[in-house]
Amino acid sequence: MEWKGIKGTILHGVPMKRYTSMRVGGQAAYLVYPADEPDLARVLDQMRERNISYRFLGNGTNVIVSDRGLDEALIRITRMKRIRYTKTKDGALAEVSGGVSLRAFIKDAAEKGLSGLEKLYWIPGTVGGGIKMNAGSFDQTISDTLQDMRIIDARHTISLIEKSALNFTYRDSPIGPCDCVVSARFALKARDKKDILKDMDYVYGERKKRHPMEYPSAGSIFKGVNGQSAWQFVERAGLKGFSVGGARVSEKHTNFIVNMGSAKAQDVKDLIDRIKKEVYEKLGVTLKEEVELWGFDA
Ligand SMILES: Cc1cc2nc3c(=O)[nH]c(=O)nc-3n(C[C@H](O)[C@H](O)[C@H](O)COP(=O)(O)OP(=O)(O)OC[C@H]3O[C@@H](n4cnc5c(N)ncnc54)[C@H](O)[C@@H]3O)c2cc1C
Repeated sequence: MEWKGIKGTILHGVPMKRYTSMRVGGQAAYLVYPADEPDLARVLDQMRERNISYRFLGNGTNVIVSDRGLDEALIRITRMKRIRYTKTKDGALAEVSGGVSLRAFIKDAAEKGLSGLEKLYWIPGTVGGGIKMNAGSFDQTISDTLQDMRIIDARHTISLIEKSALNFTYRDSPIGPCDCVVSARFALKARDKKDILKDMDYVYGERKKRHPMEYPSAGSIFKGVNGQSAWQFVERAGLKGFSVGGARVSEKHTNFIVNMGSAKAQDVKDLIDRIKKEVYEKLGVTLKEEVELWGFDA
């Protein structure tokens, strides 16, 4: 069956280790890059006609795909890149496509003297992935400045949804697996560009000091527990530097699992399970994943 009138790119049998920051994982049946919004709608319609299930992939910095891979299609809207600013009384309303890199957006806003997201600088995801995960750092979350977003849902309807209509919680949002954040608007405040850039430099410096940026990873593996960061429990359970195959608990930050070069997705999964077991047995604490595990048996 031919794909009809798709202007973007459709790839078949794509190794996920190339598209995820953990650099592990088997093939996804399809990887689709719609060219624009009407193209996205056409892709979704044809997925439905062919009975192909799908998910949305941003920069793949919070997902770990199994070695077996995925039978479904992954849709990336990273070619739909638009940032538009409308002046407000005290700054601007920034409308951004969901596939734009968060880092690029924050930098662009800073250049215009617009503040509100600088503490999220260097989170390696996209705007859409960030909203889905309610990404945050240094006590700032993406939902703090989010005003509203346009979402295309499982019935392929586009709606404008106010932030206040949704319940954003710690590293979580009610955005479903078949919902796509096509674009979002952020209420940013005017601030001296030099001060914004200074904050961004500070954030980058701290992240470089604390995070093992020199190895592939998926960022924090576990969510914090009752306001306490998960790394403390992993460290107290004596798991700093503990390895399974090519996956290791980072010595620099014990809530990061790093790929030492040859890790399989199963090594990462086995290490996650081992950490949860040890932390529970030694400290009575139940850790929950912040990363999403795709294609592993339940
Ligand atoms: C080195 C490193 C440091 C990190 N530091 C932080 C940090 O400080 N704070 C933090 O919160 N996170 C951090 N992360 C995790 C990660 O970057 C964030 O969760 C980020 O928001 C994920 O965005 P993404 O585009 O990569 O999403 P993906 O990993 O591609 O996807 C994550 C989820 O979002 C969904 N999704 C993706 N795009 C869309 C869209 N357009 N519409 C709807 N759903 C979508 C996916 O289906 C999936 O459910 C870090 C990761 C790394 C590797």
